[in-house]
Amino acid sequence: MIEEKFDAIVVGAGMSGNAAAYTMASHGLKVLQLERGEYPGSKNVQGAIMYANMLEKIIPDFRDDAPLERHLVEQRLWVMDDTSHTGIHYRSDDFNEAKPNRYTIIRAQFDKWFSRKVREAGATVLCETTVTELVRDARGKVIGVRTDRAGGAIYADVVVLAEGVSGLLGTRAGLREMPKPETVALAVKEMHFLPEEVIEQRFGLKGDEGCVIEAVGTISRSMTGLGFLYTNKESISLGIGCLVSDFAAATESPYALLDTLKNHPSIRPLIADSEVKEYAAHLIPEGGYKAIPQLFGDGWVVVGDAAQLNNAVHREGSNLAMTSGRIAAEAIVQVKSRNVPMTKRNLTLYQAMLDKSFVVKDLRKYKDMPALLHTNSCNFFTTYPRLVSQAAQNFMRVDGTPKIEKEKATTAAFIKARSRWGLVSDAVRLAFAWR
Ligand SMILES: Cc1cc2nc3c(=O)[nH]c(=O)nc-3n(C[C@H](O)[C@H](O)[C@H](O)COP(=O)(O)OP(=O)(O)OC[C@H]3O[C@@H](n4cnc5c(N)ncnc54)[C@H](O)[C@@H]3O)c2cc1C
Repeated sequence: MIEEKFDAIVVGAGMSGNAAAYTMASHGLKVLQLERGEYPGSKNVQGAIMYANMLEKIIPDFRDDAPLERHLVEQRLWVMDDTSHTGIHYRSDDFNEAKPNRYTIIRAQFDKWFSRKVREAGATVLCETTVTELVRDARGKVIGVRTDRAGGAIYADVVVLAEGVSGLLGTRAGLREMPKPETVALAVKEMHFLPEEVIEQRFGLKGDEGCVIEAVGTISRSMTGLGFLYTNKESISLGIGCLVSDFAAATESPYALLDTLKNHPSIRPLIADSEVKEYAAHLIPEGGYKAIPQLFGDGWVVVGDAAQLNNAVHREGSNLAMTSGRIAAEAIVQVKSRNVPMTKRNLTLYQAMLDKSFVVKDLRKYKDMPALLHTNSCNFFTTYPRLVSQAAQNFMRVDGTPKIEKEKATTAAFIKARSRWGLVSDAVRLAFAWR
């Protein structure tokens, strides 16, 4: 198919692949990017919140023409039981700044725009091309790829694996293990279309302002999971994700969970009369720091979701993907400029640079959190949300019961549900995991 040799081949045109391809091409490297989808973004699913700071480091003036939906001025964090939500809301006019910090995006549009930038930077982008195999030399160094198109191998000094969470290519090549069911979540999502002014009215927004809701509680039916609602210009993204191992152990289907979320009394009015036009399902890496595989080797590096670089505690993924893609590319540019080969030894630079970034520092900070939530999911996702709701209702309902008795009743309910020792143990483990 393509006879020439490239400085780098990038597998995948998602957030990490586009960041890597753009960075290398704009430094003058000869880059080929291969994407199995019909167009970049056609296979990609995200909530989606996009973090401006990480994109600014790649394309500083992205706001001039990127397809952005709303900039976020409000975040709601809800703990839900079957009939209520208890929430923390943070809203600030400071987020109405000249260069807003977070935006909602629609990946199908955003990835197309990002890919256009990659082409403009000088990379060759081929869609509808699945990379089927890595090509190695006699010493095992990766020297290119084979695809499902007619023709032989395509060669490059280095291959950037940006193939997303399933990472079949890297797994088949023995570069890493298949993600385990307890380290990946399956998320389902729907797009609910509504007129712009209805969205603004329901969420108290004006202009391009946006609001997001993230929710835990009985909506995940004791499984480790999170629900989300993000406002776009003329649509609302609504979804929920839970660990694959939890789905396997329970009898719940992802779609049934989403149905329950849609019909929850706190959510139903927000999406009333909307038209559902899209439904999607996708995996999210949730294993945290301990699930990160080997990130580089002779002739290859791995970035983004394929490297399990996802911060489940803060619900960040695309920014870690963009940053790891950019840093891997910068490391490759440096190795190339020194005129030395893309060996494992020289590509250690990528790991060293990534270790200094927020990506690894953040994941290391919460390294025990995923395991804690996964093993204690019934308490964190059902027992405590119900207790929080009871406590809030007990506090707010004025019925002649003396306050001292209400306080005693709330304390007794917590102790009955978890025992004193259980409460102290959960608090200590949470504090340690958060440290
Ligand atoms: C429901 C949901 C909501 C999310 N919400 C958010 C959010 O709000 N904010 C956030 O920051 N993150 C969010 N994430 C996470 C975020 O989407 C990911 O972290 C991010 O997309 C990872 O980018 P990536 O480039 O590594 O992988 P991807 O975006 O998955 O891209 C991988 C690309 O590789 C291509 N590919 C795969 N195999 C091959 C092959 N063999 N040959 C050629 N091409 C191949 C795929 O088609 C795809 O285009 C969410 C994820 C999900 C599922």
